[in-house]
Amino acid sequence: MSERRQELAQHWHDVQYRVTQACLRAGRAADEVTVIAVTKTWPASDLRLLSELGVRDFGESKEQEGHAKFGDLADRPSLHWHFIGQIQRNKASRIAEWADVIHSVDRIELLAPLARPGRSLDLLIQVNLDDALGARTRGRGGASGEQVLALAEAIAATPALHLRGLMLVPPAEIAPERAFEAGARVHQELLASYPEARWFSAGMSSDFETAIAYGATHVRIGSSILGSRY
Ligand SMILES: *Cc1c(COP(=O)(O)O)cnc(C)c1O
Repeated sequence: MSERRQELAQHWHDVQYRVTQACLRAGRAADEVTVIAVTKTWPASDLRLLSELGVRDFGESKEQEGHAKFGDLADRPSLHWHFIGQIQRNKASRIAEWADVIHSVDRIELLAPLARPGRSLDLLIQVNLDDALGARTRGRGGASGEQVLALAEAIAATPALHLRGLMLVPPAEIAPERAFEAGARVHQELLASYPEARWFSAGMSSDFETAIAYGATHVRIGSSILGSRY
């Protein structure tokens, strides 16, 4: 076994163990949580090794980079590709060519280019927590307050697009617990009108166990699996 393969196998095993333990502590079933390996900046060879270890879900944050890796792994059609980065309007239709799930939808103008005939796409609304926290944070993008429901309504009205839930990136200046708690509240409000929007994408390497305690269904884990290099 190559050194890199061994390292990735160990990291993947450790992350899965920690996810299982966090689910146990939260009284949740381990299969309620999907681990997305965030592979941005890492080569396609690492994705291939991970896919051989059983990883099915990959997260990328740039259109060109994700598109290229999708092409490199075209012989593995069972993989799920998650786009988690900020979306430029002029790149949206290209992202929809390869991504299965887009976590970072934050404005209505993206929906027309994302909706491609013959392609069905799962969307999460990225939420900015300023309204829910009553604070002004330096968060990266996201729909706030009533924009969330307006966006949900627009997604629900677009046949090729499926509203699956909510995504958040905790602002650096807020304790993750507070962010996840606020995010879970916004998620409950969304669920009241859109019961199919069950996914809650929250938690990264530094805080995924906490996110699982607050109901995360998808955790996006980069450095704990791949190592640190951004
Ligand atoms: C990079 C990134 C992650 C993974 O972060 P780690 O701390 O390396 O686990 C998760 N979510 C988003 C939106 C990211 O950009």
